[in-house]
Amino acid sequence: MADYLISGGTDFTEDLTSALTRKITLKTPLISSPMDTVTESSMAITMALMGGIGIIHHNCTAEFQANEVRRVKKFEQGFITDPVVMSPHHTVGDVFEAKRRHGFSGIPVTETGKMGSKLVGIVASRDIDFLSEKDYEKLLEEAMTKREDLVVAPAGVTLKEANDILQRSKKGKLPIVNDNDELVSIIARTDLKKNRDYPLASKDSRKQLLCGAAIGTREDDKYRLDLLMQAGVDVVVLDSSQGNSVYQINMINYIKQKYPDLQVIGGNVVTAAQAKNLIDAGVDALRVGMGCGSICITQEVMACGRPQGTSVYKVAEYARRFGVPVIADGGIQTVGHVVKALALGASTVMMGSLLAATTEAPGEYFFSDGVRLKKYRGMGSLDAMEKNNSQKRYFSEGDKVKVAQGVSGSVQDKGSIQKFVPYLISGIQHGCQDIGARSLSILRSMMYSGELKFEKRTMSAQMEGGVHGLHSSGLNEAGGRGSMRSGPNVPTPAAVSRCNGLM
Ligand code: IMP
Repeated sequence: MADYLISGGTDFTEDLTSALTRKITLKTPLISSPMDTVTESSMAITMALMGGIGIIHHNCTAEFQANEVRRVKKFEQGFITDPVVMSPHHTVGDVFEAKRRHGFSGIPVTETGKMGSKLVGIVASRDIDFLSEKDYEKLLEEAMTKREDLVVAPAGVTLKEANDILQRSKKGKLPIVNDNDELVSIIARTDLKKNRDYPLASKDSRKQLLCGAAIGTREDDKYRLDLLMQAGVDVVVLDSSQGNSVYQINMINYIKQKYPDLQVIGGNVVTAAQAKNLIDAGVDALRVGMGCGSICITQEVMACGRPQGTSVYKVAEYARRFGVPVIADGGIQTVGHVVKALALGASTVMMGSLLAATTEAPGEYFFSDGVRLKKYRGMGSLDAMEKNNSQKRYFSEGDKVKVAQGVSGSVQDKGSIQKFVPYLISGIQHGCQDIGARSLSILRSMMYSGELKFEKRTMSAQMEGGVHGLHSSGLNEAGGRGSMRSGPNVPTPAAVSRCNGLM
């Protein structure tokens, strides 16, 4: 563990702008990891809205992954582009079933029961409120409110205009249709209050949210890459636990030749020598970390890896000479660890467990001993490897015996990242402020100039820096390691720094 010598403090650190790659800058230096229990479209949309970015995992078919990227790129704040839609031949029973599963009514009805088909009506609560089980077989064409009685808005309407129409019409849902009267999206009254501004949102030049995706380095990854490009992906991560390989270098060359504008993140690496090969091949950023992930057993099983603080410092110190930003990937357990990673030279941090079991993470919640949990697993765990692609990150083609490099487990419900990411942002701002850095680039230059110093902390210093001497501390309820909830009671970095940390 290391600690800072405070160099002075500043009034307030507001600007956390930092480079993700040579060409992409984020206002929030936070990335969600390409893991199948962390990042699909819901996580990537919310991360981008809050100024970070999500990298869609590739433990799925190329088509599924490209579709997730498309959802992020097509996302329009407030507009629901993939609602439950039914056809006139669905029944009232189907609506009750949808209401039971999704918890809402107000279902648009189109000719084919799909988006992009002619709008013929809506089934709202008031259409079915007085119906009972004996009406379950009734067709929607009889039960729905018909097209001529609906208020709709034309495609291209702004969110503000659509909200105004919705408010005036006093309806629950507003269908948006194109010139052919085909349904393109809807907006919901219940979402009106949620349609807040996201001033930090990460967007491309066409004002679409930024989205990343992970790929491997095999022949079939070239097909995956083509689909991702068609979906509008902004950056690809070459997902390998040991990135310094001829396969990765070949893939970087291939991508740079075929899609010269696409940003490519290489890795993972932990030494300057590994970094050199990928930088020479033309990567736009480096993902740093081996063996430090919360679900990772690489250091035990393969005897490979490096303490993460050292890896981040060594690689960043080398890569900065070439203008290549570094992502500190794995081992981030608290907001204090984020600050430490950034102070050691990383431009951004990538998180798995910290974002797992949030509302936006894939998977269903379940209860165990009264605790609400979601699954979180390493992509090199046997569990994840059973699901096609992840073994490519950890194994060679000919491997007959699989040696797991990760474990599978569960993490306690943390609520939405809509609350959690702002907590992380504030925490980083406060950390920088106490150190005396007005921005992350100043933070880094203070470290390189020697103004910001790191000291080894003895075990007793670590104990002193943690909560001590209390009969009960509330750490567990307020958000210890396993339950980092946002809010005023979240432990300070100092309070949790005794956890096995980044440094
Ligand atoms: P965490 O934030 O500490 O949970 O670490 C997440 C990081 O661990 C990911 O971004 C990956 O780099 C890494 N990782 C994911 N799956 C595995 C695995 O199965 N074994 C080792 N490392 C993994």
